[in-house]
Amino acid sequence: MAPSVPPSARRSRLDALASRVETTGDRPTLAVESPYDARTLGSVPACAPDDVESAFARAREAKAEWADRPLGDRIAVFDRFHDRLLDEKADVLDLAQAETGKSRLDAHEELVDVADTARYYANHAAEYLASRRRSGAVLLLTRTVEHRHPVGVVGVISPWNYPITLAVSDAIPALLAGNAAVLKPDEATPFTALRLAELLVESGLPADLLPVVTGRGPELGETVVAESDHVCFTGSTEVGRTVAENAGRHLTGCSLELGGKNPLLVLADADVDAAARGAARGCFANAGQLCISAERVYVDSSVREAFLDAFVREARRLSLGASYDYDADIGSLASEAQLEKVQSHVEDAREKGATVLTGGRRRPDVGPYAYEPTVLTGVTPEMTLSGEETFGPVAAVYEASGIADAVERANEGPYGLTASVWSADTARAEQAAARIEAGSVSINDAYAAAWASLDAPMGGTGDSGLGRRHGEEGMVRFTEAQTVATQRGGPIVRPEGVPRRLWAGLMEANARVLKWLTSLTRR
Ligand code: NAD
Repeated sequence: MAPSVPPSARRSRLDALASRVETTGDRPTLAVESPYDARTLGSVPACAPDDVESAFARAREAKAEWADRPLGDRIAVFDRFHDRLLDEKADVLDLAQAETGKSRLDAHEELVDVADTARYYANHAAEYLASRRRSGAVLLLTRTVEHRHPVGVVGVISPWNYPITLAVSDAIPALLAGNAAVLKPDEATPFTALRLAELLVESGLPADLLPVVTGRGPELGETVVAESDHVCFTGSTEVGRTVAENAGRHLTGCSLELGGKNPLLVLADADVDAAARGAARGCFANAGQLCISAERVYVDSSVREAFLDAFVREARRLSLGASYDYDADIGSLASEAQLEKVQSHVEDAREKGATVLTGGRRRPDVGPYAYEPTVLTGVTPEMTLSGEETFGPVAAVYEASGIADAVERANEGPYGLTASVWSADTARAEQAAARIEAGSVSINDAYAAAWASLDAPMGGTGDSGLGRRHGEEGMVRFTEAQTVATQRGGPIVRPEGVPRRLWAGLMEANARVLKWLTSLTRR
């Protein structure tokens, strides 16, 4: 039976959140469904491109004053946001669960991630945004400084699967760097985004600095990109290509975090039980609707049987449920479209000869879109799920004959988002990681070790994206670098009376001295 909707996700509260969306005229509405019972939770305006332009204009105006504020004042907003988010967590978690059907623990993982992101960038903003002395053109005579200025207004287009993390974790460094941002959340999860924007305003962010525009991606996307000074897109590879094409036309910087078909490698010396527990987390967290979840598991032949036994046991132990409490490991899939995709991938594999070791069933007793954690063997290249991202709780387990074979097969396919390697010998695992073509690799952990290392860049290679979030790169992408070089003792031109040949010799001498001097500090 569907859980009763908590007060924070009831109609009157949702209507109040929807009223935060500013439109320039009357707009039709867009219904938001709860996956717990397929009923309408509430609705938001289906904004038009005009509304997007107006949101960018307001944001641009608000940015001027915000960028002039001392950095310490901007940081204070995010320190307060960190605490408010944790204090007010219940209603954010309720909203994210109501909109996606995920378990409370999965929603909580996102919420803590956003608090950690706010803390990380608040602690590092001064360092990453500081002006830096650079080596000058002429020894002793050129004083060169690199400054970082905000780019302007950053567009954020986010998906439904992690509506807390992916709505604001790019906006946080963008805003701290002195930009405004306009957020276009997925059609399915606008209320979580609106509540997060409201929490930021309650923490002291100027109201127009982060407008939220709700509506359909294909109708608004082009205007968001056209108006942005940098656009952050998280979502499918297909739409990511469209965003990148539009960004190219406008010469707008863009960062794209896209799909994946992530491998998990269990080497011969791995602790099989730990690897199985980790694989269950890596494959089934958030019902597998996680860009960094694992869908391909390569197990060394020597431990294949032991691993499969343990993995199936772990998959069966996961509790499936629909509740606004912490009593289920896994929630529902987020929509009928998700359920159909997962079912069609598993049925296709079954029909073409794969073996379903556990799962492979809908669970209507839990909810209309609930689906069991599923483990498959015997998956072959002609099966859709062998190469295509399922984005559901479905893992295919393959046998590998040693590390080289596992790494080679991990590198198959167009994606390169993340990977996981399990081994008792961490040096060997690190060597294997270096040969895996993926933006991040977690060793003896499913994905959290790399993702939650906020100090290090996170993103994908190949069809998994462009650019990186997290770390210094995750903030400086929202700045324009400006070089200011001050020349002393006259301009760099041949002084009158100095013969050209002598001048050429002096330039060359400068080059030689610089080479010698700088080689002393070469690392
Ligand atoms: P999607 O690409 O359909 O939608 C993502 C966002 O793009 C939504 O806000 C949507 O409204 C908007 N959009 C749709 N059409 C658009 C257009 N033409 N122009 C601009 N914006 C448009 O993604 P989805 O299928 O809802 O999300 C699942 C996908 O996202 C999966 O492939 C998953 O791997 C990926 N994802 C990646 C990451 C990551 O960090 N790499 C994180 C989460 C999800």
